[in-house]
Amino acid sequence: MANLTFEWIEKNMPKLGYGCMRLPLTNPADAKTIDFPQSEKLIDAYMDAGFNYFDTAYVYHDQKGENAVKRLIVERYPRESFFIADKLPVWQADSHASLNRIAAEMFERLGTDYIDFFLIHSLDHSNEASALKYDAYGIARRLKAEGKARFIGASFHDTPEYLEHLLTAHPELEFIQLQINYKDWFTSLRSDEYYRIARKFNKPIIIMEPVRGGALADPTSETAKELMALRPDKSFASWAIRFCASLSGVATILSGMSALDQVLDNIATIKEAVPVTPGEMAALERAAHTYDRTHYIPCTHCRYCEICPQGIDIPLTFDIINEWRQTNNWAVASTQYGNMLASARADRCIACEACEAVCPQHIEIVKSVAIAAKNWNQ
Ligand code: SF4
Ligand code: SF4
Repeated sequence: MANLTFEWIEKNMPKLGYGCMRLPLTNPADAKTIDFPQSEKLIDAYMDAGFNYFDTAYVYHDQKGENAVKRLIVERYPRESFFIADKLPVWQADSHASLNRIAAEMFERLGTDYIDFFLIHSLDHSNEASALKYDAYGIARRLKAEGKARFIGASFHDTPEYLEHLLTAHPELEFIQLQINYKDWFTSLRSDEYYRIARKFNKPIIIMEPVRGGALADPTSETAKELMALRPDKSFASWAIRFCASLSGVATILSGMSALDQVLDNIATIKEAVPVTPGEMAALERAAHTYDRTHYIPCTHCRYCEICPQGIDIPLTFDIINEWRQTNNWAVASTQYGNMLASARADRCIACEACEAVCPQHIEIVKSVAIAAKNWNQ
């Protein structure tokens, strides 16, 4: 199998990738309840516009995400007409044999005999230890040698220093998937440093979370005000996509689209291809700092923490806390919290820290859910 090159990317890959982590649901509280008729409309609109890159993972949609990609894409389009990216979750394994079994299951669930972009999922200190212990890199190399993985890479959630270490230690990684958006670029996450390191190693970058789980798409937010005034005819989300599209070395930008207007808006932004000017970059930096002031907990709604044994709806709890922080309206937050299912409320937390072990944003979840339990539990 040939290796991934920037020339190949330029010729073959679309600039907008479809993140299949947030497909529309029939029951918003249950990630397994994918709304297939609605999802088909979104996928078809994306494909009809000439885009064809789909990113999923073994753990998405409570382990139903790969089956959904099979049903929505693999069974409805010729295999050679689209690319699939799928991710191997090393934290779900307890041996080399079990990680091998998970890798085999990925192909079965997708209904395909090859995966275009095969990633080791969510590398950080802890997952790298498992990846080495269970030889995830050996599995990836074997799949590539067998022609089952066209290109091998990893998604990453740790410090820039650790990214430098990983890219040095694993030259077989052909590309790297990074969380990059203007909020994380200009404030705490140091995604500008991730970017520079990936460029230094000449690795093609796949961008994830360009709109930070939708937070950089909410036109009513405090963050949106100045930007919306500068380009009143464009969506707030278009700023986030344009920021990422203005960076060189980017193979594709993944957007987790769950509504048709998001698909059409993202497509229009990518097709217009208007780079961010230096003056607009300064406005984005100000917006990033506004975001930091108004969002207390940096949750991106990835829902990896759905493994909570107590069934706590952690991202919804954080939405309520963040909104309370923004509006200072305790009563509304209290009502929202009261409307949650009793079985999903924060007072059920047993501080087992299972959620913190998988949270890619490294949020102190136990402490943070306790804010809700303390304020609003009767
Ligand atoms: S620490 Fe609390 S919220 Fe996190 S997984 Fe355990 S019970 Fe759930
Ligand atoms: S708390 Fe962390 S793991 Fe859970 S949805 Fe938010 S970012 Fe994802």
